[in-house]
Amino acid sequence: MNNLANPASQLIDKFNRKITYVRLSVTDRCDFRCVYCMSEKMTFLPRQELLTLEELEFLGRAFIELGIIKIRITGGEPLVRKGIIQLFQGLGKLTGLEELVLTTNGSQLIKMAQPLKEAGVKRINISLDTLKPNRFLKMTRIGKLEKVLAGIEAAIEAGFERVKINAVIIKNRNHDEVTDLVQFAIEKGIDISFIEEMPLGNIEGRNCVETFYSSSQIRQDLAKTFTLSSSIETTGGPSKYYQLAGIKTRVGFISPHSHNFCEYCNRVRITTSGRLILCLGQENSVDLRQVIRTYPNDIVKLKQTIVNAISLKPKSHEFELDKKSQILRYMNLTGG
Ligand code: SAM
Ligand code: SF4
Repeated sequence: MNNLANPASQLIDKFNRKITYVRLSVTDRCDFRCVYCMSEKMTFLPRQELLTLEELEFLGRAFIELGIIKIRITGGEPLVRKGIIQLFQGLGKLTGLEELVLTTNGSQLIKMAQPLKEAGVKRINISLDTLKPNRFLKMTRIGKLEKVLAGIEAAIEAGFERVKINAVIIKNRNHDEVTDLVQFAIEKGIDISFIEEMPLGNIEGRNCVETFYSSSQIRQDLAKTFTLSSSIETTGGPSKYYQLAGIKTRVGFISPHSHNFCEYCNRVRITTSGRLILCLGQENSVDLRQVIRTYPNDIVKLKQTIVNAISLKPKSHEFELDKKSQILRYMNLTGG
């Protein structure tokens, strides 16, 4: 048997880490312009540079045949991509995929939560940095809080296994809301994760050193109101979870600066234009779109390229707050 026909754990890098999770960015476009993610005047990729929905599904199939069990669809805003439900439906049917999950800004969930659930999406992360409408408008530059809150309700009603809020916390912008955000999550019966800002892309007026607000500072703030106890749960990624005494809601912290998780990294990313990114904090990448377009429908060739690429996965990331635009990719290309 060709060894590429055997799905079991073929993606093991040279540090013996098993890769089981892919984050797929399906568009660089977005209906928001969050201050930490995009510059105010973004230029987006020409459409022909984006992987088509068929190419995305083909890529998903290749990864699943190589032993990937979890795919997260992200972006840009994945739900603004035309026909995106078709991709969820296609991936949702593939044998071997245990978790089809999504990260969204929530703006389209009023109409899309139910179709996503029906397509097989298990869990959903919704970004929400503030509960104040004016602040929301400032942080997203164009977003409407009301629509996102209604989207969160729609996701809860649709009955996903898990709904989680993701909040990027920035000093002097929204750090004063961490307790209110946890309170909101408790009231809704959902989870929440706080994210430290990462210095990705060249964003005018941003100074990550001055605006850095660490996970440990957030925990200190929360400790004034809640009792947090460390949980053993792990996602093989940068999240560390805490339990609140007597409450279902879990509180996670995604701390690329202050928590070293590289040793257990189980993931890779695909950019909107089909580049396989081996580490969010490094530039190493391999062009899978070129392989897909040069050898259409040749899944063996594609899988071989992926297997070879995994050996390039670096040992650890290198984020430094004071190195200006060291990683030039914007977050909307890699999907967080
Ligand atoms: N548009 C969707 C959303 O906002 O959830 C999905 C894509 S977005 C790039 C994925 C996640 O990355 C979001 O939770 C967002 O808050 C986070 N993010 C974006 N830029 C970031 C940055 N510079 N540092 C840390 N997190 C960031
Ligand atoms: Fe859009 Fe998400 Fe980036 Fe905000 S974080 S600009 S919602 S892609």
